[in-house]
Amino acid sequence: MGYSAPRGTVDILPGQSEKWIKLEQLLRTIAANYNVKEMRTPIFEHAELFNRAVGDTSDVVSKEMYTFQDKKGRYISLRPEGTSGIARAYVENKMYGLPEKLQKVYYMGPMFRYERPQNGRQRQFHQFGVEMLGVESPYVDVECMLMAVTVVEALGLQNVTLHINSLGDDASRDAYREALKDHFRDHLDELCGDCKARFEKNPLRILDCKVDAKHPAMKTAPKTIDYLSESAKNHFDKVCSLLDDLEIDYVIDTNLVRGLDYYSHTVFEIISDDPKLGAGATVGGGGRYNGLIEEIGGPATPGVGFAFGMERLLLALDNEEDEDEDGLDCYIMPLGEEAKDLAMQIIAMLRANGFTCEMDHVSRGLKGQFKSADRFNAHFSIILGEEEVKNEVVNIKCNHDKEQVVVPLENILAHIENHLSGGHEHE
Ligand code: AMP
Repeated sequence: MGYSAPRGTVDILPGQSEKWIKLEQLLRTIAANYNVKEMRTPIFEHAELFNRAVGDTSDVVSKEMYTFQDKKGRYISLRPEGTSGIARAYVENKMYGLPEKLQKVYYMGPMFRYERPQNGRQRQFHQFGVEMLGVESPYVDVECMLMAVTVVEALGLQNVTLHINSLGDDASRDAYREALKDHFRDHLDELCGDCKARFEKNPLRILDCKVDAKHPAMKTAPKTIDYLSESAKNHFDKVCSLLDDLEIDYVIDTNLVRGLDYYSHTVFEIISDDPKLGAGATVGGGGRYNGLIEEIGGPATPGVGFAFGMERLLLALDNEEDEDEDGLDCYIMPLGEEAKDLAMQIIAMLRANGFTCEMDHVSRGLKGQFKSADRFNAHFSIILGEEEVKNEVVNIKCNHDKEQVVVPLENILAHIENHLSGGHEHE
């Protein structure tokens, strides 16, 4: 009998976590480049926040959310996405009152969705997301998209396309909603039960129904961009012309509506045909959400953002060779109990001086210990046999040039530093 990790979760083991750290560092560097600051919000929030922000007709909330009652009977949800928590914190901490009107933040961390686990789909997964709050401007939309493109380019993902669309403002969406209802009314009998409910509550969600995806009426459905109000159209035209000026390739994808309810105006997705991800994989997406902050009780505040699935970004890094992995500076090889005591002293001294070190803790012979030094890719092996202990010396072997010298205990540090800086004189 044993325990296994809950379905849809994975352990990130040593050997894999290095890749995560590399990805995280790259994302942090790009964020700094765009003057985007990190924000950390709780992993669980009141369920009501997500019902409100993401929308209770979305699949994410209605089917996939991990919601439970805590000991006081409060409904709590593990966050299925990052924007709602950021928006809540923005309002609660009155960030709208800060002197800098445009607040640009990023987050990264685990998200939870009760989905059927499959390749690239987990129940606990990670997202890197960016939110730019406080300014309604097509320039900010484009800055956001540019940052998303920078991320995939920095990762070297091939065959990436930016898909964009506009859902328009409230007036456009009202007009579009009516057009959609007119379109689907005659097909209602052929659609699934969920879609029948969506027809009344939120017809836009019919378009991302997984059950009815192949229904012919989906293909002939009206397009959002044909229902844009004049100001929404101007906004979208400006976004497109800015992307043109920056020579960023994009396609206008009139089917793109995104799965969460809070979007308005510009929506976008980054789709990759990189063989590492499989054809047509969505690496990430986002868009503008001008109604969200007001919806959750804050002052009317525009916003735009995106989120990437980090597992998918990692696949891009996966084929990169691991050769650049750092090895240890020193592997200490004590032979015998007395030598171990001395090895402990030496390893503490070397670590205190900034060297990465490991020692043998399983009392093996020389051969086994050399194998470990090899596996750890140690620059130096420091051998401590009975003779060495008696004479208060160690045997230091440089595993790069194979030079091996006997060094008095008090000269270990000097020898290693000297050797690393290129000097090779013997002590
Ligand atoms: P969304 O918040 O649904 O727009 O998702 C943004 C990105 O997160 C997607 O493009 C995926 O890369 C990633 N993602 C969403 N759900 C999952 C999941 N269950 N497992 C792994 N990645 C996911």
